[in-house]
Amino acid sequence: MEPKQAWGAFSIIFVLADMIVAAILIDLEFDSLLVVAIPAIILLIYLYVLYKRYHVEVVPEQDIMLFEDADDLRILCSIYGLGTSGEEDELRERLLDFARANRDNAFTWVAPRAVLSLGSALEMPSTPRKSTSSSRQPLLGGRMRSSARLSGIDDCPICGSKVPRKGWVCTECGADLEFYFVLGETKIGKLVLSEKAESVRRKLRYEVPTLREPR
Ligand SMILES: [Zn+2]
Repeated sequence: MEPKQAWGAFSIIFVLADMIVAAILIDLEFDSLLVVAIPAIILLIYLYVLYKRYHVEVVPEQDIMLFEDADDLRILCSIYGLGTSGEEDELRERLLDFARANRDNAFTWVAPRAVLSLGSALEMPSTPRKSTSSSRQPLLGGRMRSSARLSGIDDCPICGSKVPRKGWVCTECGADLEFYFVLGETKIGKLVLSEKAESVRRKLRYEVPTLREPR
């Protein structure tokens, strides 16, 4: 089942649970304002988290080719709910298939496996979103490298170390600063960065004792 449909099914269950909460509040003779407000707030938080965390950008084909680190590809695969086994080539191939299948969508829904398997009972109609961000220029998103952008990067997007005044790679962790900076400007990029940063910092902690605290 597609993540979007799975979330639809999951949301129905969530709304039902929310209504049970309302029923319990009525049963406990709560003030009628609270009986309405509490379930409404729960629902709003649910929708906010759902949209914020699980509605992410589709990384287009040409951008997937720019990822040179197998770990990045693996993280992306896991975010999209694709298989994370295999070598760099297999991971990239999987992502390219995904990007081609979602060519017309700027955003896509992703869902953890638990939601996907739970959602198989109910079907929701899907309406693909039209692309809203198409004309950005090469790094990711087809943007050009710029020394102005590079010089504006003070901390490594991956490990958080101070960036050297010249050079485009982090001297601590070896990250391509501009590449990851631009990546971090997207929602899916933030997800990739936070997972990557965690593993890189874990590795660095053993190798380099003088690191700032993780954010
Ligand atoms: Zn770094």
